[in-house]
Order: sequence, then C-alpha cells, then structure tokens
Amino acid sequence: MFRCQLCGGVVPPRTRAIRVVVCRRPKPYPFRSQANVIYRPDRDGKMKPHTTDDPGGVGWEIVREVLACLTCTAEGVPRDKRREVRGDSDGRDGDD
Ligand SMILES: [Zn+2]
Repeated sequence: MFRCQLCGGVVPPRTRAIRVVVCRRPKPYPFRSQANVIYRPDRDGKMKPHTTDDPGGVGWEIVREVLACLTCTAEGVPRDKRREVRGDSDGRDGDD
C-alpha cells in the first residue's frame, strides 16, 4: 500500500509500485581508450587479451523518478510533470 506520487491516490494492499521517470538529462560519455578487454586465440591457439576502444557518445541520465500506480503508468506522465533539464540541475523546482 502506498500513495501514488502522480495522482495522489492510495492504492490497495499488495499492489506493486512502478517507478516512473519524470525528469531526465542528456549525458555525454567520453571516448575511452582500450576500455574493453576481450580474450581471443592468437596464431598458436593460446588465449590472449585484446583491448578495444569505447567510442563514447550521448545518452540519458535519470534525474528524478516517482512511485506511481498502474493506472497512472498506463496513461503516461502528464506534460506538466515531465521535465528535461540541462547541465547540473538536480531537477527540483524552485532553485533554478
Ligand atoms: Zn496514480
């Protein structure tokens, strides 16, 4: 039993809470030289470590997520509660 953080309603006992992302930010991942180690056989059949580079890139990082009921999860997060932030903000209202 918990209170849904999107609609404010209390759900019945033994209902699973679902974590819903309400705020996210872009996250750049840097290039990393020789980051991945794989083992593969050389000419003689002996296993040797071989490294490959991690190209890096851009992904998403979760800033804030809430516990929601099944109904709210199925409907999706309303636009006024969904946020994307830039930079190092913590995603909370008021201080930016
Ligand atoms: Zn709800």
